[in-house]
Amino acid sequence: MLFKDVIGNESTKKKLIKEVQTGRISHAQMFLGQEGSGKLSLAIAFAQYLLCDNPTKTDSCGVCDHCKKVQNYVHPDLHYVYPVVANKTNKVGSSKDRWVEWTHLLKTRQYFNLHQWQESLGELGKNASIAVEESRQILKKLSLKSFSGKYKIMIIWLPEKLNNQAANKLLKLLEEPPEKTIFLLVCNQSENILATILSRTQTIRIPNLKTDDIANYLVGKFAIEKSFAESTAGLSQGNINEAIDLVQGAKNQHVYFSLFVKMMRAAYTANPIDLMDIASEAAALDKENQKNFLKYALYIFRESIMMNYMKDQLVNLRNEEFEFLQKFARFINNQNIVQLMDEFNEAVYHLERNASAKILFSDVMIKLTKLIKKGV
Ligand SMILES: [Zn+2]
Repeated sequence: MLFKDVIGNESTKKKLIKEVQTGRISHAQMFLGQEGSGKLSLAIAFAQYLLCDNPTKTDSCGVCDHCKKVQNYVHPDLHYVYPVVANKTNKVGSSKDRWVEWTHLLKTRQYFNLHQWQESLGELGKNASIAVEESRQILKKLSLKSFSGKYKIMIIWLPEKLNNQAANKLLKLLEEPPEKTIFLLVCNQSENILATILSRTQTIRIPNLKTDDIANYLVGKFAIEKSFAESTAGLSQGNINEAIDLVQGAKNQHVYFSLFVKMMRAAYTANPIDLMDIASEAAALDKENQKNFLKYALYIFRESIMMNYMKDQLVNLRNEEFEFLQKFARFINNQNIVQLMDEFNEAVYHLERNASAKILFSDVMIKLTKLIKKGV
């Protein structure tokens, strides 16, 4: 992966290149930042730059033997570790069991989170971790002589998923690193990582992506309208994984739309049985879809305001949404918009912290009923 094919992150790219040019390369580095900031791609591009025979001042050459091997995911000195679900029969699992799927997702999608990784494996809801078997594999890989004569590089995606035993084994390696070995840890949440591991890694903070960078990427990748790319980028709040899901999930948007319409009608009529039915329907979605639905509702609230106050600028709605909002938008106004946004944002916050979906959506429905009344 070339640096130029990694979204945004220009200042970090410069920093990494400078590390190589000045020869001050830390043997353990942690790329730390919010999910969806392109960290894994950055780490891969950095690894390629370290292995490339003819790097320029801004990027790997892309054509030398090492570059080609990295790009085809066959470089013998570049290793990947990532969470997997333990195998049913022998209860152990390691990255090598899922290598085909891993490289497939990197090649086809490039940016993804743990949920999307597990979804691609058909293993949603199961506990994925980096278990002790993995540390045995790591030791084995690092005991081999470097093929290139340069570095051996180990990219560990989501070290927060290391279980205790595996973390302790990794710690030993970081304390006494094998010669010419570089560990690149790609991490969303450093709170779940042993302090002793943290103290032995150099942290590189990766900022959230700019919405402009995301919008440009979406236009190039999916050939969509600039205005749609911009609204999607805004909705994703700097998270490229989510932005891709939003573009690809146009089919989900239909489900969200139909649920949204039912939800607003129930809130308007305030029939208690309908309200609880809708709450149950929302709670029956899987967790990721529950969150996406709430975000979709936030998006429709914003569009309603746009429709009320800036009619000409409505460019992002699909037909069914537009038709519905022509009647509905007037109920969303300065009497209730702030509270509505607060309630739905708060619901997302609580879902992320494992609140009971049933109670949460019942509560949302009750508050929504009051707030829609305020807007009438
Ligand atoms: Zn090269």
